[in-house]
Amino acid sequence: MASFKTLDDLPDDLTGKRVLVRVDLNVPMDGAKVTDDTRLRAMLPTVLELSDKGAIVLLLSHFGRPRGQSRPDMSTALLVKPLAELAGRSVRFIEDCQGPEAARAITTMLPGDIGILENTRFHAGEEKNDPELAKAMAALGDVYVNDAFSAAHRAHASTEGIAHLLPAFAGRAMAAELTALEKALGNPQRPVAAVVGGAKVSTKLAVLGHLVARVDHLIIGGGMANTFLAARGVDVGKSLREEDLLGEAEGIFERAEAAGCTVHLPYDVVVAKQFAPNPPSLRTCNVHEVAADEMILDLGPAAVEALADVLKNCRTLVWNGPLGAFETPPFDAATVALAKTAAALTQDGSLVSVAGGGDTVAALNQAGVTQDFTFVSTAGGAFLEWMEGRTLPGVAALEQAA
Ligand code: ADP
Ligand code: MG
Repeated sequence: MASFKTLDDLPDDLTGKRVLVRVDLNVPMDGAKVTDDTRLRAMLPTVLELSDKGAIVLLLSHFGRPRGQSRPDMSTALLVKPLAELAGRSVRFIEDCQGPEAARAITTMLPGDIGILENTRFHAGEEKNDPELAKAMAALGDVYVNDAFSAAHRAHASTEGIAHLLPAFAGRAMAAELTALEKALGNPQRPVAAVVGGAKVSTKLAVLGHLVARVDHLIIGGGMANTFLAARGVDVGKSLREEDLLGEAEGIFERAEAAGCTVHLPYDVVVAKQFAPNPPSLRTCNVHEVAADEMILDLGPAAVEALADVLKNCRTLVWNGPLGAFETPPFDAATVALAKTAAALTQDGSLVSVAGGGDTVAALNQAGVTQDFTFVSTAGGAFLEWMEGRTLPGVAALEQAA
């Protein structure tokens, strides 16, 4: 089990201690309005706990892609009001994330105060993991807490470099995420099933390659299942597929066979002649009966039922990628049905279910089951890199500090 220090390893009284907390303030905005505050909510437990313990809480984050330039439209000052409203406390803004002016501003803060430092990416050294910038940021604090799993796949000054310069701890959201991921793939209860879906094999090859040797059941859905079906000699009509990856698909089958992993492909599918909401040409058929002018847009009900039976016999599920073109009705049916089964099994206590990925989170929200999964990661790129078995530099730095 990977180990790292958490807020439990800090003293209960942090009065006046300057705690630099790496958070992820990258929320979607429409003008000054935050359109999805999930990430702001996620950091609240850490921020409020540190503030309650008397720390001077200094939030570090990137925001957008300013590429080393100061850009008013990418200033973290835009997040002061939204965060203050959610936290129910006042939040101040500090005009740089390093340097003497920031240091001076911080000397006027009182125990329990919360401040947002300016966008770390206004300095070109952030994305280069420049040791000088890391040192200058570290000089503003006594302790470093990383609560941004979603930024941990980047070795940047505020995620990696700084963790070696101060006592470093995982925040509450980071710790919860790492614990859930460890339960899902690090040291899972068997049997383990993985659902991998989405449009393309090409974006998920590394994920498939990593999972195939670790899970007992690999369930392939979405557009990428078409490439696997084609590799098996099935005529998938005009379905989305990647002809140049048939060899890679074969390779996955071979590795699965060698590892004793069962690969599940659909027997029945939902097809249509045109990709549109509720098209008149909609029908369900066996995978061997797809016509030349039809495309596969979702798994069929028999496939979903068979997959539900697989999940009933598993103890752990990790899920990335929708099973169909879920944004367009009715091609969300398989994803919604299987997600509901996974949610019910989780609630019954028979399944640990962990899911992630931008579209996967949207699909689970659409199914109304996000709360019923064991853990749903909103981390995007970091979650995928973890699914690929890669070491996340921001996490590795916390482990080295432990
Ligand atoms: P995530 O963001 O969760 O990692 P992906 O980006 O890999 O997921 O895949 C999601 C996309 O895959 C969705 O836009 C969905 O419409 C598309 N998709 C799934 N199945 C099909 C299909 N059979 N044909 C076309 N697109 C599909
Ligand atoms: Mg996506």
